[in-house]
Amino acid sequence: MSGKHGELTCQELVELVTDYLELRLPAPERARFDEHVTTCRGCQAHLEQMRQTLRVAGALREEAVAPAAREALLAAFRGWKRGV
Ligand SMILES: [Zn+2]
Repeated sequence: MSGKHGELTCQELVELVTDYLELRLPAPERARFDEHVTTCRGCQAHLEQMRQTLRVAGALREEAVAPAAREALLAAFRGWKRGV
């Protein structure tokens, strides 16, 4: 078992991969993540796969949410102009 400041295990890396890709990892965690990925082919492959998955999911999410968000903005703007 590795300590909190030791090297990441593959299991820990898998749990952090989403945060890593969404840039939510603090710098020290990110450094440990990078360190593990450069030395572990399995996690390299996993990271690459997750990167692709998130890219596709992100594109889909944007398409699905954009019209609704625009509607909400327009509604808010109309209300505001009316002086509510
Ligand atoms: Zn690994």
